[in-house]
Amino acid sequence: MRLLIMGPPGAGKGTQAVSLAERIGGAHISTGDIFRANVKDHTELGREAQRYMDAGDYVPDEVTNAMVRDRLARDDARDAFILDGYPRTLDQVSTLDSILGELGQQLDGVVELVVDPEELIGRLLKRAETSGRVDDTEDVVRKRQEVYTAETAPLLEVYDQRDLLLQVNGIGTVDEVAARIDVVLPA
Ligand code: AMP
Repeated sequence: MRLLIMGPPGAGKGTQAVSLAERIGGAHISTGDIFRANVKDHTELGREAQRYMDAGDYVPDEVTNAMVRDRLARDDARDAFILDGYPRTLDQVSTLDSILGELGQQLDGVVELVVDPEELIGRLLKRAETSGRVDDTEDVVRKRQEVYTAETAPLLEVYDQRDLLLQVNGIGTVDEVAARIDVVLPA
């Protein structure tokens, strides 16, 4: 099964994506995690991405797209994967379409975690206290929500028109939300 997981920052995508990847027996591909690993390792990609991440902006499409193209070509993503945090722009949607086309693959579904924006700011500020993520300051948290609304929320409509959108209430315990995801996944 090949899935995307979408939803605003703080909706719990990462947590759900990790366990969902196990349940579908596929690769968990988080572009945010890949960027953070590169920043930590002081790679050239990390240096390029860091200033955007620190400001709560998106890393440029050409950088992100090239990274995902490489990652999806790896063996562990051949039969099943969940993409977490990608695509986030319409340009990335087109690139993903091309990559999957070249690989002879197609998406089976797009899981959207639906969470009230008010709840999210609170969750993110709480996470900021413990995570030490430099992109978790209040200004950056708000900026990331704005960028999501402007650039990424419109993608939900695109996938809905393709009949791929699987909406799930994202409020609840990790297990409750996971159970709701399992109910809506294609057979
Ligand atoms: P995340 O952990 O998914 O919230 O990602 C953290 C940060 O990495 C984002 O705020 C962006 O700066 C960057 N990032 C992750 N995924 C993408 C993407 N698909 N396109 C552009 N930037 C991204």
